Amino acid sequence: MTKQVPEIFGCNVFNEKVMRARLPKSVFKKLMQTMQNGEPLDMPTADAVANAMKDWALEKGATHYTHWFQPMTGSTAEKHDSFIAPADEGMAIMEFSGKALVKGEPDASSFPSGGLRQTSSARGYTAWDPTSNCFVKGGSLYIPTVFVSYTGETLDKKTPLLRSMQALSKVAVRFLRLFGNERVTRVTTTVGAEQEYFIIDKAMYDQREDLILCGRTLFGAKPPKGQELDDQYFANLRPRIAAYMADLDEELWSLGIYSKTKHNEVAPAQHEMAPIFTTSNLGTDQNELAMEVMEKVALRHGLVCLLHEKPFEGVNGSGKHNNWSMSSDDGQNLLDPGDTPMENLQFLTILCALIKGVDEYADLMRLSAASAGNDHRLGADEAPPAIISMFLGEELDAVLRAIEEDTVYKTQTSAFEIGVNALPSFPKDSTDRNRTSPFAFTGNRFEFRMVGSSDNIACPNFLLNAIVCEELSWFTEKLEPFAGSEHFEVEVKKLLKEVLQKHRRIIFNGDGYSEEWVAEAARRGLPNYPSIVDAMPHYTDEKNVRLLAKYGIFNESEIRARKEIHLEKYSKTLRIEARTMIEMARRQLLPATLDYIQKLAQSVVLKNQIGISAATESEIAGKLSDLADAFYDSISTLENIVNTACDIKGIQEQAEYFRHHVFIEMERMRTISDTIERMMPQSAWPIPTYSEMIYNV
Ligand code: ADP
Ligand code: MG
Repeated sequence: MTKQVPEIFGCNVFNEKVMRARLPKSVFKKLMQTMQNGEPLDMPTADAVANAMKDWALEKGATHYTHWFQPMTGSTAEKHDSFIAPADEGMAIMEFSGKALVKGEPDASSFPSGGLRQTSSARGYTAWDPTSNCFVKGGSLYIPTVFVSYTGETLDKKTPLLRSMQALSKVAVRFLRLFGNERVTRVTTTVGAEQEYFIIDKAMYDQREDLILCGRTLFGAKPPKGQELDDQYFANLRPRIAAYMADLDEELWSLGIYSKTKHNEVAPAQHEMAPIFTTSNLGTDQNELAMEVMEKVALRHGLVCLLHEKPFEGVNGSGKHNNWSMSSDDGQNLLDPGDTPMENLQFLTILCALIKGVDEYADLMRLSAASAGNDHRLGADEAPPAIISMFLGEELDAVLRAIEEDTVYKTQTSAFEIGVNALPSFPKDSTDRNRTSPFAFTGNRFEFRMVGSSDNIACPNFLLNAIVCEELSWFTEKLEPFAGSEHFEVEVKKLLKEVLQKHRRIIFNGDGYSEEWVAEAARRGLPNYPSIVDAMPHYTDEKNVRLLAKYGIFNESEIRARKEIHLEKYSKTLRIEARTMIEMARRQLLPATLDYIQKLAQSVVLKNQIGISAATESEIAGKLSDLADAFYDSISTLENIVNTACDIKGIQEQAEYFRHHVFIEMERMRTISDTIERMMPQSAWPIPTYSEMIYNV
């Protein structure tokens, strides 16, 4: 790096500093009001902004602009238009109007809409989201936009997130008034998404059709060494990885992303990048951008970045810890308990609102992280289990118990003792960590650890926001009659006690990976949806439809559409995976196995001719022959099952068939293949092995 970080940081972003410098004062002021208070933007202002944006983008080498949106495909979408316009004498000028900035009109029919759009009525609109940042990348000006249908139904992930943030702000401001806060006018939700990923060598990747087509290995015997020594977590960075991460940081910084932490993760070849948190809207856009940049920068280093939730069986998968909180415009983090949580009634009420909400809407939380990829993680003994529960830590737990039991809690501040005088002393944190909880309090925020590494984080955030809207409203309605009265505190505590008695079951501080917890959770009546096909149907449960409609996030047909899109995507993913397996098995793995059997058989014949024992070859050939028969049988079976699955009409029924039949046969085939792999000479196995891939960089 030749330049200093502050020089690089945000150099490709049309941020506040650039706006202030380049926009006329009145235009800047209006734009800020739109960005901060959601006030609508008039056309003359939009024109002035567009013009300044264009001049700035041209200086950065841009020739095009694109509305950048997040359709239900799971990736981002962009269509580039040049700034070019005809001028006199056969010349060209560069033009960009407010209208082009504010609105675009991509054909909506090729994006998943869950039946909301017919191909015959394909009109869709993109509309500029001024609360996020425009930026320049690869010669284009990127304009973050929402994506809606001609009739105004949402076709993307950003719209519901913005709707949820708007609703939450209103509800939360009213809630804060209860506690005498008259200054706050706006509350925003914040997010810091810790992104896990794998890095492997591009040359290996290119030899694996499963990685190319599905993003994960469908075959592969476990190497003799996995992650059992815990020697990879926080290990020193190998040179190629260090070079990659340095390059990645520089690129992320130039795009205004505060990439903060980088380290090796638990599994070999696994790493993490965490940015500094920001508003949920910007944080979501930036995470989408970060994932794209991570993949592109890897290619420059002859590497491939795998964002799939489970690229390799037998070692940890990747998640995206969604750190969530709320902050008010008077500078409070609403989840900060302060030094004396017992005295912080506002915090305790918010905490109880979350406890009540997570318990009542555990199904929504679970399905917000459901995907084909994440099915491999949740419930395995590494990621949080598929059961939603909350971890609060010792101190908060004791505080809540005191409320429930009408006893007095004494705040315990203890200093941390290391036993070496020369070392600085520091106060002990009030909570320990719990790495096995799906929804853990970590001192001043909640960490939702279920989200899959490749997922867009909008969905978990807008559903969580919706839940919080409902619970803060519920508390507000109950408590408003007592606001300002001398009974207020007593009434609050009474209500908290009631809520805790009813919803305590959602709190679990033990080991979420254990068998005992599964049984215990069932006893408590907590839902356990191991797969997306079990979780997704609950999207349209009456209480959930009511909740999402009440806060203007979705109408019923929008929810139905989302549910269908997610389930269809699941079926399609499994179809592609199964067919990739069949192809690899039939055209690579089985022929290689048969070749080797033939080689062994030839050796047996030759050795017999000259009268020496061929017992070893004979035995291996026999075993491999049986396995090859089973392998061949599994290929035909899987092919038939997939065909049957494809003929099923109902979306839910089809997804269930994929889960309960196709998926099971895929596992059987893999077991056979992995057994064969272990018996074959490395040189005869046609695809790179796990050891080669995960210990190579
Ligand atoms: P840990 O390993 O403890 O989870 P990391 O530094 O890897 O810590 O990640 C913590 C994440 O939480 C960071 O992205 C950080 O910015 C984010 N975070 C911190 N405070 C908040 C907050 N108030 N709201 C949302 N996210 C937050
Ligand atoms: Mg974390």
